[in-house]
Amino acid sequence: MPELPEVETTRLGISPHIIGHSIREIIIRRHDLRQPISPSLTDLIGRTFEAVTRRSKYLLLKTNANSSILIHLGMSGSLRIISPAEEWKKHDHFAITLSNGRQLRYHDPRRFGLILHLKESDIQNHPLLKNLGPEPLEETFTAARLHASLRKKNIPIKVAIMDAKTVVGVGNIYASESLFRSGIHPKLQACKLSKPRAGKLVQAIKEVLTESIQAGGTTLRDFLNTDGAPGYFKQRLFVYDRKGEPCRVCTNPISRGILGQRSTYFCPKCQKM
Ligand SMILES: [Zn+2]
Repeated sequence: MPELPEVETTRLGISPHIIGHSIREIIIRRHDLRQPISPSLTDLIGRTFEAVTRRSKYLLLKTNANSSILIHLGMSGSLRIISPAEEWKKHDHFAITLSNGRQLRYHDPRRFGLILHLKESDIQNHPLLKNLGPEPLEETFTAARLHASLRKKNIPIKVAIMDAKTVVGVGNIYASESLFRSGIHPKLQACKLSKPRAGKLVQAIKEVLTESIQAGGTTLRDFLNTDGAPGYFKQRLFVYDRKGEPCRVCTNPISRGILGQRSTYFCPKCQKM
């Protein structure tokens, strides 16, 4: 599944090819993604892209029609910048041809993605976006904010940080890895995390995500860089998917447990309650 680093990598990859260029053609081959593709997208022909931003795992392609195209990659979606002449592959469902002669094409075998046309004034209060917590890489995600949001939570810290109301974009790999780096046991009750340890965790989340973005994204086999090269550069993982292997710090075997129905990897020696 594309995680925040893959989505950010996609944003960085497509932005220079679409910002400042206008929409020549919109091609919808299949409407039936997780929700139907907005038919009003075709109203955007002739309009220009002004910016590409990201909120959690949603991409927002802002146009000069006071609207944005919201794209979520779902379980298996990917975007590429290609020539419009390129042959349509199975599972290519949508494309935007641009005035610079390039095409943004959406590919999604499982069709859990979203492509919606939203008025600028509706974005902030859109049901998909309005309850999202802070962005992990922004300055607003601080130790004080995390500590305050965990104060009343009687759930394991790992489950808490994977909840988008606490912070967005911390998927299973990143939760496991950032807890390891900050020395925190994943089963620790969230409300018991001290403020200094919250500070370490915030720092670790930022580092893990930043490194993954730099590596081009870690998890998605189907992800293609916008130039068509595979974008699968595996970050060096300390605990995730390493059950029984020696801890890279203390050599003790890594443990695996289940928390919130998700596999959880940790070092019982390096990570403390
Ligand atoms: Zn260890």
